[in-house]
Amino acid sequence: MNVVIDLGVCQGYGNCVVAAPAFFDLDDAGQAVLLRAEAETEAEQEAVRAAIPVCPMNAIRLEH
Ligand code: SF4
Repeated sequence: MNVVIDLGVCQGYGNCVVAAPAFFDLDDAGQAVLLRAEAETEAEQEAVRAAIPVCPMNAIRLEH
């Protein structure tokens, strides 16, 4: 599955980085950076799913 961040709404809270550091980081401007664009294994998808509800801006999606 593809990991998508809507940078148009990301406010750099960083909750995603705490929830799934293998997939998300923050850049110097305080916006989320996607470290990996695909979550293939169940464990990887679970990590991303943990980040989705903690993003205050609803900026993270998993897509087929
Ligand atoms: S938790 Fe959401 S708003 Fe915060 S940095 Fe991550 S994607 Fe952006």
